[in-house]
Amino acid sequence: MPTTQPASDVVAVKLFNKQGQLVGPVRSDYVFKTQAQWKEQLGSERFEILRHQGTERPGTSEFLKNKKDGVYVCAGCNLPLFFANTKFESGTGWPSYFDAIKPNLAEDVDTSHGMRRVEIHCVRCNGHMGHVFEDGPKPTGLRYCVDGLSLNFVETKDYATLAEDAAEATPIDQLASAVFAGGCFWCTEAVFEPVDGVLEVVSGYAGGSKETADYKKVSGGSTEHAEVIRILYDPKIVSFDTLLELFFTVAHDPTTLNRQGNDVGKQYRSAVFYKDDAQKQQVQQYIDKLQASGKFDKPIVTKLEPLEAFYPAEDYHQDYVKLNPSNPYVRHVAIPKVEKLFSKHGELIKGKQ
Ligand SMILES: [Zn+2]
Repeated sequence: MPTTQPASDVVAVKLFNKQGQLVGPVRSDYVFKTQAQWKEQLGSERFEILRHQGTERPGTSEFLKNKKDGVYVCAGCNLPLFFANTKFESGTGWPSYFDAIKPNLAEDVDTSHGMRRVEIHCVRCNGHMGHVFEDGPKPTGLRYCVDGLSLNFVETKDYATLAEDAAEATPIDQLASAVFAGGCFWCTEAVFEPVDGVLEVVSGYAGGSKETADYKKVSGGSTEHAEVIRILYDPKIVSFDTLLELFFTVAHDPTTLNRQGNDVGKQYRSAVFYKDDAQKQQVQQYIDKLQASGKFDKPIVTKLEPLEAFYPAEDYHQDYVKLNPSNPYVRHVAIPKVEKLFSKHGELIKGKQ
């Protein structure tokens, strides 16, 4: 049963913009509320269906006879889920659709009541919608059997009333990512989090196998992994070259082989994990230019390694500096890097433009 909070607090969804167009997928915050908050918002009848996988009595939904053109949205969080032109008369007594708005509707195998059924729910708030069966009409052959109380209806002319700010953001397929190893990931993560255009920084491991991607093994130095960060960014707001500049001149020292300060070992090596040849070339050109500039009197030892896989680190390593500001290592090693970012690159900070 999809009753737990998902691992990520951000989901990919299609949303209406101010012009009343469905756009995306874009990033949107997961809607998390307590049971009491949901009950207050929904009332007890809707609460039982949406939050406890209840089922409304067949034949009772006001939507069975609704012939208007528009969209059906989640009664919990307003996420658009079904267009009216996919609704059909199934004879079951529940509103039925042959298609859903993807990726807004999620599926889960439900084995309760001694049956194997595919449960459907809103991807943003986890609100239960009903089930999907493979006996629907063409062109999909699917029958989304939905509790009308899980939905609200919005007419086509009113689509703009569903507009959300997140719809104006750059679509997910136009975002880019970079994976940097610059010693302790707590510190490098903290440098990039405040940068405008950076949407997410995740601490993790790269360079080794899945089996060895855990902190105990990596910090012991017996794996091929480096501590890395994966930066998700909007290239319309911040360029890869700017991220490289911050990586090489603020986040770490690229001239010390397999060490950063007191952190020694190849897990603390300086490396850029490139995703393709174009990115590899761009990094090499940047390093050549930086070396030629004379900013460093020692050779830059940063390795260029292909990104085979990225493994997120354990939860307690994420946002470590933000959550542990009084930790002595954080105070002495990480915070000075963040201060350098603010003093030398103030124009790049979120909200400063
Ligand atoms: Zn929802």
